[in-house]
Amino acid sequence: MQIASVILDIPTQALEGAFTYLVPDDLEGAEVGCAVLVPFGHRMAIGYIVSLGQQGLRGLAEEKPGPERLKAISQVLSRPYFDNYGARCARFLSDRYIAPLNACMRLFTPPGGVPRLVQSGARWRVEEPDIGPVDDRWVRLGPSAAGFTPRKQAVKQQAILNALASGELRVAELSMELGPVTSVLNALAAKGVVEIEHRRRMRGVMAGGVEEAFSPSAKPRLTEGQERALWAINAAQDSGACNVVLVDGVTGSGKTEVYLQAIEKTLALGRNAIVLVPEISLTPQTVARFRGRFGDMVAVMHSRMSQGERFDQWDLIRDGAARVVVGARSALFSPLGDVGLIVIDEEHEGSYKQDSAPRYHARDVGYWMAHERDAVLVLGSATPSIEALERCGRLPNWQRVELPARVNGGPLPAIEVVDMAREFSGGHRSMFSRKLSDALFETLEAGRKAVLLLNQRGFASFLLCRDCGFVPECASCSTSLTFHDQGNTLVCHHCGHREPAPAACPECASPYLKKFGAGTQRVEAELVSLLEGREAKVVRMDADTTGKKGAHQRLLEEFVVPGPAVLLGTQMIAKGLDFDEVVLVGVINADTMLMLPDFRSGERTFDLIEQVAGRAGRAQHPGRVLVQTYSAEAVAIRSAAAYDRKAFLDEELPKRMMLKYPPYARLANVLAWGKDEAEVRQAAEALGKDLQQLVAGREQEGWSCLPAVPCVLSRLRGSYRYHIVLRSPADADISALLVPYFRQRKPHKAVSVAVDVDPYDLL
Ligand code: ADP
Ligand code: ZN
Ligand code: ZN
Repeated sequence: MQIASVILDIPTQALEGAFTYLVPDDLEGAEVGCAVLVPFGHRMAIGYIVSLGQQGLRGLAEEKPGPERLKAISQVLSRPYFDNYGARCARFLSDRYIAPLNACMRLFTPPGGVPRLVQSGARWRVEEPDIGPVDDRWVRLGPSAAGFTPRKQAVKQQAILNALASGELRVAELSMELGPVTSVLNALAAKGVVEIEHRRRMRGVMAGGVEEAFSPSAKPRLTEGQERALWAINAAQDSGACNVVLVDGVTGSGKTEVYLQAIEKTLALGRNAIVLVPEISLTPQTVARFRGRFGDMVAVMHSRMSQGERFDQWDLIRDGAARVVVGARSALFSPLGDVGLIVIDEEHEGSYKQDSAPRYHARDVGYWMAHERDAVLVLGSATPSIEALERCGRLPNWQRVELPARVNGGPLPAIEVVDMAREFSGGHRSMFSRKLSDALFETLEAGRKAVLLLNQRGFASFLLCRDCGFVPECASCSTSLTFHDQGNTLVCHHCGHREPAPAACPECASPYLKKFGAGTQRVEAELVSLLEGREAKVVRMDADTTGKKGAHQRLLEEFVVPGPAVLLGTQMIAKGLDFDEVVLVGVINADTMLMLPDFRSGERTFDLIEQVAGRAGRAQHPGRVLVQTYSAEAVAIRSAAAYDRKAFLDEELPKRMMLKYPPYARLANVLAWGKDEAEVRQAAEALGKDLQQLVAGREQEGWSCLPAVPCVLSRLRGSYRYHIVLRSPADADISALLVPYFRQRKPHKAVSVAVDVDPYDLL
């Protein structure tokens, strides 16, 4: 008799979730990765098998009673969703990120496709997944068709035979032409006149879908830098051990071509590849570059696809039909066998960190996977993260390869800093400096295009009472509400709450409520009036205009129509756009992010400027970049404008070292939140005391724990938030110290607690 470790799929804050069950000898199909039905206490529960053996895998099971007291699995509910390797990965995620095992396991199950237990009173039943494969019925002429002549009045039969004379058709198409046909078809099928067949339909992915004709794109001759990068990756693949290659290439240096050829080699070795791309760069153009080389072998996974589409792609991957997965962060967990290469493009991007449990970072999980599978991890960026750079300098299996030149041989566009404080004191009050307006006019007159970036983080328009200073805030988040001209409404950008803008101050009844700051709509309005009388299309791209499926793509298509045009948008336009006619890039407010009280704000400002500058002058026309700022002297801005990473790091690294921030230390941000402020504070303070006990005696080695304090975003979506910041030495296992504590800690009934290990920000 076998014994199985099963992780129960029940909502819990507790970290442990694995229990031991007997596998009855007559139970068929019980394998690692299967969903199973098991007795749990006085009820039933659904879980996933994570290990099988005579004993159950040590470490995965809780303290086991003797086999005679074990309960048995009652039913196997699915084919395996994952293998031993997936089970180990979930365990790693749970330990590393101090997250419930079942939340980690969930990353490996098919999108929308797991069975659920539905209970009504004392009864329960297993409900099949909402999402599954869809079949089309196809019909064609059968063996008896030749000798068959319909009777005169059987008009529909004749029509069907006529339609099928030129080949098979989907039943759905037939009924569109002829009305209901099913009963007629069944009668004909019974006589062997037609044959009906069920065939799996793959729901389309992005524009065009999977059926799109595939014509392989030609391989260009590589530049010298590309050759070197590819050589390094190939050598790493040949060595068959976990190696990391950081492709440190300026924008337009052809990093994607390097990935493509590295994947080709991986496939030739019989292994498979995963490519991660930030969600917003995962455009049809990006996908087309991979499909153009590898055709139907490419599966795509991202959150803008419907669940049905994602399910079909997931299935293609599991069946081995897809061998290259291109996707957002979570594509790491797709059921791809024998992964030999993991590429993370734009590895510096904050979106690689998940902000709900498990709070994993794709770079770190990718490294674990590469290590586990003897695969190669390729990181690519024009602005590599400080973490990646530091590891390349320190660790023997991390290697950096530079691509210092653009493929087109052109120079990087010159970046000019425009000091807005000086503009303002000179009496110029517009949000477009004179320099930027002149450059815009010049660009448009030449029939070319410009991209304008509005740095929206911490910079949206709000209402302010000029008499009493009142600023309307969201009732459930501690942030000021953003004013939107459209519909004259106030919107909370954290929770989505909307309310009409008041005509007078709710505090003092003064009618002098003034709009401050500038959201994209305000900038758009000012831009339109600036360009009045000139020929130019203005396309705005932000969270409001790209909400609908496909909107992002449609706006870009509008922008690329030949002729003068301006694309105005938030951070989402900073990367991935590769349009020949863009010769001018303007950053309207480069410094707002710099004001955020966060240790990465300098790095993020530097990255943003370099990335957005990379949108200019990618083809034969030289590009120009103007960066408007009120902090013209800030090192992050000055060094970005000079493309001088060294100058930036020379200032940034000593600061990080002194203040003990990554990469010179590791952090864990322990968050506590709930509806009642007093309760949250109390729970957080108690937690803080416990954690201080944990690090007590280790201060000499570089451990510390700050007391609980309110977060910078002290209210969010109706909750009060407190946090505790723990520090460990850079090479310490910070999770290992915390896991035992959080495993035995009893969840608080009104205060939620989460640990963010290696947080991306501390807000
Ligand atoms: P990056 O990702 O480094 O910004 P891309 O991979 O997008 O750069 O490449 C920029 C452009 O150069 C793309 O249009 C790509 O097709 C083209 N390209 C890449 N490598 C070569 C090459 N060796 N020869 C000619 N064109 C190339
Ligand atoms: Zn007022
Ligand atoms: Zn809100």
